[in-house]
Amino acid sequence: MKTIDDIDVNNQRVLLRADLNAPMKSDATGQMQITDDGRLKASVATINDLRKKNAKVIILAHLGRPKGERKPELSLKPISKRLSELLNSEIHFIEDIHAENATQVVNNLKPGEIAMIENIRFEKDETSKDISERQRLAKLLASFGDFFVIDGFGVVHREQASVTDIARVLPKAVGRLVQAEQKAFDKVLNDPQRPYVVVLGGSKVSDKLGVINNLINKVDKLLIGGGMAFTFLKAQGYEVGDSLLEIDRLDEVKQLMKTAKEKNVELVLPIDIVVSKQLDGSAPVSVVLANEIPVGLKGLDIGPKTSELFASKINDAKTVVWNGPMGVFEVNAFASGTKTVAQALAQSSAYSVVGGGDSAAAIRSLGIDESKFDHISTGGGASLELLEGKILPGLAVLEEV
Ligand code: ADP
Ligand code: MG
Repeated sequence: MKTIDDIDVNNQRVLLRADLNAPMKSDATGQMQITDDGRLKASVATINDLRKKNAKVIILAHLGRPKGERKPELSLKPISKRLSELLNSEIHFIEDIHAENATQVVNNLKPGEIAMIENIRFEKDETSKDISERQRLAKLLASFGDFFVIDGFGVVHREQASVTDIARVLPKAVGRLVQAEQKAFDKVLNDPQRPYVVVLGGSKVSDKLGVINNLINKVDKLLIGGGMAFTFLKAQGYEVGDSLLEIDRLDEVKQLMKTAKEKNVELVLPIDIVVSKQLDGSAPVSVVLANEIPVGLKGLDIGPKTSELFASKINDAKTVVWNGPMGVFEVNAFASGTKTVAQALAQSSAYSVVGGGDSAAAIRSLGIDESKFDHISTGGGASLELLEGKILPGLAVLEEV
């Protein structure tokens, strides 16, 4: 696999597939505003390194799921504006790759200058299941570049024109961000220092079963919080009130609990739970034992005893992977479990990797110092698939000659 140090990009056009898919919301005037620019910041290193090497950088990226339609609210313009601030440099914006001036903009770039192509998912060929349609777009894109660099970790699990197909047309290399992501996941998947603790949460156990199935062969301790904990508590024979429950996954969860025992993996479930009638914090909130969740109430966070227990397990670990918030962290009343776990991880000397879009957002929104973690992944789906042990097409293609 080549890195950007292995290709000679001097005065060359480099098509850079980045992941700039930042969460946005519209403000009072109807303008789209970025709510978390973490992915933009994570893309700066590669762009600047390419510029230092005198490349002309043409950025390819997507926003949301426009499904082949030009949706103004999913334009990359606000993203390009923010990125331009972060880079302290102008970005030439290409609205339509089919228009004649697209070629002109690219041809007029000087070494070190940057262009950005409008949301590539406005092109219906980008995500087509038909490989010949994707190849058609890949060929057009390739006409704008001499090299292809993949740095959008958030899309490497996708078989898409601007990810895999274009990598088969142009000479290719991997960017700094994808390199860093690969290094972190390689370490926790193949060479973890022990004790090795994995903390899982989030809403759905079904989203994370693949991860548990793979990691159960590697870890020493598995701590389960968040909405997914209730299917485990139910499997233990407890009633969970109105909490999130995936009853159709009960057998799988029971099987996992058996496997954990056989493999000597310590499975740690919540011992107390923060409950309420309402998810938005508008109803009274109380703490109950995990085996005493009242009928009609929802479990919305791990309780203080559980937070302390999880923090102490994290404190004893040498490697920690964390994926999925411990509760509905978006609401203040249910954020403290997630905060305690995140702080424990920030303070621990363990090698720490955080995966999952909401977990990374939680760290930032709770104001915890990001630099205290060894790696915070920028890719939700991609990081889950790596933890599941899958081979990702956008990375596999880089090995092809
Ligand atoms: P990630 O993106 O980090 O992988 P998920 O997408 O799996 O995480 O889950 C994040 C969501 O889970 C958050 O929006 C959070 O509010 C929700 N969540 C966590 N705990 C609970 C719970 N007890 N009940 C309902 N939702 C929960
Ligand atoms: Mg999520």
